[in-house]
Amino acid sequence: MLAPRGRLFGTNGVRFIPGVTGDVGFAIKLAESVGTYFADGELLTGRDGRLTGQMLFASVTAGLMSSGRNVAEAGIVPTPALQFATKALGYRGSVMITASHNPPEYNGVKVMGPDGVEVSRLDEQRIEKIFQEGTSRKADWKEVGSPRPEPNVIRAYINGILSKVNSKLISERRFKVAVDPGNGAQALAAPYLLEALGCKVVTINSIVDGSFPGRGPEPTPENLRDLVVAVRASHADLGVAYDGDGDRSIFCDEGGNLYWGDQSGSLIADYLLERNPNSTVVTPISSSQVIEAVAKRRGGKVLRTRVGSVDVSRTIIERKALMGFEENGGGFFPAHIPTRDGGMTTAMMLEVMAARAGAVSKLMATAFPRFYLTKTKVPVDPSKVREVMRNIERRADGKVEKVDGLKVWVDDKTWALIRASGTEPMVRVFVEAETKEKADATAKRFVKAVKAG
Ligand code: MG
Repeated sequence: MLAPRGRLFGTNGVRFIPGVTGDVGFAIKLAESVGTYFADGELLTGRDGRLTGQMLFASVTAGLMSSGRNVAEAGIVPTPALQFATKALGYRGSVMITASHNPPEYNGVKVMGPDGVEVSRLDEQRIEKIFQEGTSRKADWKEVGSPRPEPNVIRAYINGILSKVNSKLISERRFKVAVDPGNGAQALAAPYLLEALGCKVVTINSIVDGSFPGRGPEPTPENLRDLVVAVRASHADLGVAYDGDGDRSIFCDEGGNLYWGDQSGSLIADYLLERNPNSTVVTPISSSQVIEAVAKRRGGKVLRTRVGSVDVSRTIIERKALMGFEENGGGFFPAHIPTRDGGMTTAMMLEVMAARAGAVSKLMATAFPRFYLTKTKVPVDPSKVREVMRNIERRADGKVEKVDGLKVWVDDKTWALIRASGTEPMVRVFVEAETKEKADATAKRFVKAVKAG
């Protein structure tokens, strides 16, 4: 058996490269451990469109059945659709085979509880313990589980979203929307959701293909040129791109300008806080300061978390928050599900456009002051990271926040976030300032400080 070394569960489930850092034997053993952890009930399984997905789907199904669990197979679905359906269709839990936005050679396994939310860190440790100690249940021949198809996941997901937004108001506007699922799983849901919302839909990269030939599985303002072209050529009101498993969305206005998720998230927060004052919005420490300006104006509250979608989800649940968002395009609406969902975020964006009756560029320009973000990373030996951080903290003369890494306030409108990457030997440097020049210059200064150690 070829299995990843060290801890299995990272910030977002188990990730590995099939054939290189893990194999089908590993997937079966992991699934046996997951099935043992759940102990009873029927489990829902789904996958994104990766080339190794079918192989791992068969392995995970086999492992779950071996531990005695019955399995309902959803096939290729967006992660948020599987999460929503886990709860809506009453499953004991679910397993998603996905590596989200990672390069095509990766794949992974995410485990959700009956509420559709990723199981807690403690429960991940329980599964890991069963795996490491080899104590998974092997069902007797009369008790092994059996599979059946579950064809209703995407329908339930779309209906769930339609019931949580003002569908009538959106439909009346007959928006034109250009959609770029990036050959990922939202190709099977988002265009149909938009049609159900009365939109005229233009699609690119909308055939599910695990080699991600269009633009790769991660939507970033740098690789969405085709979406910009599609929006302009079709005179669309909005453009939207999703990551490989469809839980993140990046938007483009009618003029072809792209926005990071904390900009679109702050616009939706402004709209929702206006209707629900005194509510809480949750976002990681890395998001733009515009949300504080929005919350101040609307009388809301902002809670900052560590970087990572599970931290945002858990905080939303604990603090009964109104919504959450991430700078990478994650949007969380607990009235629907407390996990991030690209489809629900798109529907919310359309509701803002319909209710405020203006072009997206204008809504963005008037909702909050403009800030500029510069992102870069510096290779740093992991053994040196602590010393680098200590030195930066010692030299900082402004306020320093330590929610995740170091957030150094250079002045009251400029901050730098210095964080060790969780996945590579790098230190990330994010800087936000009122002008691009200032953001670039400040980033340069911190990169120099990181390099100096
Ligand atoms: Mg994703």
